[in-house]
Amino acid sequence: DPAPLDLKRYIREVPDFPKAGILFYDISTLIRNADAWQIATARLAESVLKFQPDMLAGIESRGFLTAAPLAMRLGCGFTMLRKPGKLPGETISHAYGLEYGHDELHLQVDAVRPGQRVVVLDDLLATGGTLAASVDLLRKAGAHVVGASVLIELAALKGREKLDVPVTSLLTYE
Ligand code: IMP
Repeated sequence: DPAPLDLKRYIREVPDFPKAGILFYDISTLIRNADAWQIATARLAESVLKFQPDMLAGIESRGFLTAAPLAMRLGCGFTMLRKPGKLPGETISHAYGLEYGHDELHLQVDAVRPGQRVVVLDDLLATGGTLAASVDLLRKAGAHVVGASVLIELAALKGREKLDVPVTSLLTYE
């Protein structure tokens, strides 16, 4: 491949969103381009395949976008980690701290079988709080969490140091 597609060209950087001083990395401009989205999915699939997962878990909501197409491609199941009040039936939950206040993720109690190899996906790794909470929740449900993968990693925030599973990312920003 003499000129590999530079996926960073498709990530829009939005200053002062969702609040002043924050630079937001927007994948909307990547996923609306068929070629870029297909190449991103193919590259992500390559790195996730190495974890030999049985099941992929996506974090609401942009983690659904990254995980669901990969699950089909890799022949895995797909399960959803969701905000409170969204999943029917019995769920287990995990609360985690945010910069201001806290948030909570839920998973259906029967979403994973004990010992199943699960990879958790999101669009972006910042401080690592969201992915760390997701790993905890999946373990509560009995999963063997074998890795975490994201499209974008904000390396300066050292989020991967908060995680005790291997992490792969397609695009790194300092
Ligand atoms: P963390 O918990 O600090 O690692 O933040 C990661 C979570 O916040 C992920 O669920 C992301 O979707 C979201 N997030 C934080 N910053 C950005 C950004 O710049 N673009 C898109 N999502 C972001």
